[in-house]
Amino acid sequence: MRSHLLNGLTAEHYRRSVTEGVERVAAKLATTDRPFTGVAVDALLPAVDAIDLDRPLGDTTAALDELEDVYLRDAVYFHHPRYLAHLNCPVVIPAVLAEAVLSAVNSSLDTWDQSAGGTLIERKLIDWTAARIGLGPAADGVFTSGGTQSNLQALLLAREEAKSDSLAKLRIFASEAGHFSVRKSAKLLGLGPEAVVAVPVDHDQRMQTVALARELERCARDGLVPMAVVATAGTTDFGSIDPLPEIAGLCAQYGVWMHVDAAYGCGLLASLKYRHRIDGIERADSVTVDYHKSFFQPVSSSAVLVRDAATLRHATYHAEYLNPRRMVQERIPNQVDKSLQTTRRFDALKLWLTLRTMGADGIGQLFDEVCDLAREGWELLAADPRYDVVVEPSLSTLVFRYIPAAVTDPAETDRANLYARKALFASGDAVVAGTKVAGRHYLKFTLLNPETKADDIAAVLDLIAGHAEQYLGESLDRAS
Ligand SMILES: *Cc1c(COP(=O)(O)O)cnc(C)c1O
Repeated sequence: MRSHLLNGLTAEHYRRSVTEGVERVAAKLATTDRPFTGVAVDALLPAVDAIDLDRPLGDTTAALDELEDVYLRDAVYFHHPRYLAHLNCPVVIPAVLAEAVLSAVNSSLDTWDQSAGGTLIERKLIDWTAARIGLGPAADGVFTSGGTQSNLQALLLAREEAKSDSLAKLRIFASEAGHFSVRKSAKLLGLGPEAVVAVPVDHDQRMQTVALARELERCARDGLVPMAVVATAGTTDFGSIDPLPEIAGLCAQYGVWMHVDAAYGCGLLASLKYRHRIDGIERADSVTVDYHKSFFQPVSSSAVLVRDAATLRHATYHAEYLNPRRMVQERIPNQVDKSLQTTRRFDALKLWLTLRTMGADGIGQLFDEVCDLAREGWELLAADPRYDVVVEPSLSTLVFRYIPAAVTDPAETDRANLYARKALFASGDAVVAGTKVAGRHYLKFTLLNPETKADDIAAVLDLIAGHAEQYLGESLDRAS
């Protein structure tokens, strides 16, 4: 069994095993002709069920053969140009290489004595990101597991900074199109069910600042305490960007913590063409960035940034075994004082090798390409009488719905769109997402693959129309 432990004696085993795994994935990349096989849960479940975890195979090749059947063959492949569904990106090779390095060395980024240079690398990337945002000289932050955790931590800091004698009085303002992790965070932070005020959005799915001003006014009038405004720079459903400068103005006026959820829009920090779309982000008190969404990084790679490093103290707790107070005097850096986690992956290494290999411009160029593609897709949709498209893209998302010519009942149109999405998934030819707009079912493309071309979009629109028409045809048959 010791031959499975990674150490100086097993370096050759390590090299062979990892190479074997890499070969399998490389072969998959070269041969997948669809993003998905269309496998159904019922078809896959018996194979997983049948595996007896108490009877190991003992050998890498056999375990990988088995993995082929229960995972690799039927996985959803984000690198395929017709995967157009969620906020998942294809990944860049330097980051994948870093993933292999960081898990083998297995540094933990809580303390210096578990990471050494890793701590410095993470700090430098935090400084780099904060500088790109423009947060100023006192900024700091930490890598997190994702946007959900970043939002939670930012709101924790905001809660601690808010002046209130009761949690029940605290209010958070986020747009209707904000991420659900804001509401989840409010619950985890002990706030009441009324704590998150949903501010209406305009036609472009951007927070209405007039409505925000009204809500802030109402909050003051009711004797409540505004804890934070969450501005979304890239909503999950539309990629819409709230008007950051106006929101910053209101936050300054009412003395409220401004959090910018740029989980998606952070890609613009590297953009060569569209950086101005997030102007105003530099006025935030805290910012969420998900490198695993728009920096082409593998999951997980994310961070929370703050304007004032001192606010991170609200997450600081000391343990004699780990980060005793005397370490501060000895000037030994640690990251656990800033994090909600303790043992923590060296995810920063992925961004590091990416920047050191391709540079930020390389990432920005890829993100610009998907933004340009979204613009092309919007033009295709706008010119196509079969489709209704909502919201001109600010980033790389398109929300649209198939409108059958002969159908007047919107519920039937809903069903046709829902059916088309499911049928497309079952075919594996493409994967698209869905959402609701004003109570109606829409379809969604989240374009994060620079290999996707306008032709792919056109082809997938034809596939969707085909499935929707088939549904409507069968629906007519059922009725007659
Ligand atoms: C994806 C997303 C989140 C959550 O991020 P995770 O990394 O999935 O935890 C938060 N906010 C927005 C706007 C997002 O798009």
